[in-house]
Amino acid sequence: MKTIYFDNNATTKVDERVLEEMRPLFCELYGNPSSMHTFGGQIGRRIGQARERVAALLGCEPNEIIFTSGGTESDNTAIVGALAAVPNRRKVITTRVEHPAVLAVCRELESHGYTVIELNVDKQGRLNMAELEEQLDDDTALVTIMYANNETGVIFPIEKIAELVTGRGITFHTDAVQAVGKIPLNLKSSSIDMLSISGHKLHGPKGVGVLFVRKGTRLSPFMLGGHQEAGKRAGTENVPGIVGLGKACELALTSIDQENKKVKYLRDKLEKAILKKCPDCRLNGDKENRLPNTTNISFEYIEGEAILLMLDQYGICASSGSACTSGSLEPSHVLRAMGVPFTAAHGSIRFSLSRYNTEEEVDYAIEKIPPIINRLRELSPFVAK
Ligand code: PLP
Repeated sequence: MKTIYFDNNATTKVDERVLEEMRPLFCELYGNPSSMHTFGGQIGRRIGQARERVAALLGCEPNEIIFTSGGTESDNTAIVGALAAVPNRRKVITTRVEHPAVLAVCRELESHGYTVIELNVDKQGRLNMAELEEQLDDDTALVTIMYANNETGVIFPIEKIAELVTGRGITFHTDAVQAVGKIPLNLKSSSIDMLSISGHKLHGPKGVGVLFVRKGTRLSPFMLGGHQEAGKRAGTENVPGIVGLGKACELALTSIDQENKKVKYLRDKLEKAILKKCPDCRLNGDKENRLPNTTNISFEYIEGEAILLMLDQYGICASSGSACTSGSLEPSHVLRAMGVPFTAAHGSIRFSLSRYNTEEEVDYAIEKIPPIINRLRELSPFVAK
């Protein structure tokens, strides 16, 4: 059975051109970039090229790029490093809908005496700028707000937020793991101080990421040890990963507009057909300000996990926002923050597409999904017969 992969916000397929670029770095060019010999020096140059390619996609300087082990490390470094640099300030502002790579760090900070403000979102998953503005004060060390939401695809007005926050002399970080490669960026003309990327979300390898740190931003190193990454991130570099991420960024830069158009067309076709053919379902999140590849749909009165299992029988991979905590299924914290009713939040499914999806795959899913939903509804004790 063919796999139809609609789970690209979880991870993406590595582009073959990325793999080709990485291949020699394992068994031929395996030296340590920190070594004094010529063999090691060649590897250093490959890292330099990757840094330039990432900088070109982000519209920043190559020396503003720090390579990390992924989105989670980039987020942790930005938050912990920024706070350590201004120890007299004790307040952090974030949102209720962040990825756990941000939320868990912020909640841990609370147990160390920090005041953490989690901003609310409305029914469409949008932020209230006035609420943010009210919270900015002289005790605020950092504001960290994601660029685009991984579950709903909702995009926050990050440039406006960055301007507001940095205008008050406060450091601003954004988790742009889901945005980079889908939303064009130009950090030179932006007020963002720090921005996180993850390689495996844009057809690069897993286990590599980037933290952009604007020149002049105060940040204490998070990983201590050797002098790699200009003393900003210790640890021998994941050279194949870094080179792969560089290539993935180069490819994203050349194809972003054309790919967005194709992916949005397929996403819209899938979404429209599901909403039309399946009764009692609803779209979660702002329909307009959304990533072009993501749709999050709630199927009332049925469990998301049951839908996923049935989709899986037809080779269709998607994801539900629920998390399994001590044996019980907790609906997604993002949908709960948006006030999605329990019965709908439990039955939510995220479809996230990529450059590799085809119209035939979408047509196949449109044919299979409505009967699956009907069958599960017939079994549901919650549906009024
Ligand atoms: N931030 C967001 C918004 C994400 O979607 C993810 C991954 O799902 C991460 C951070 C974590 O990235 P990584 O898997 O590279 O650690």
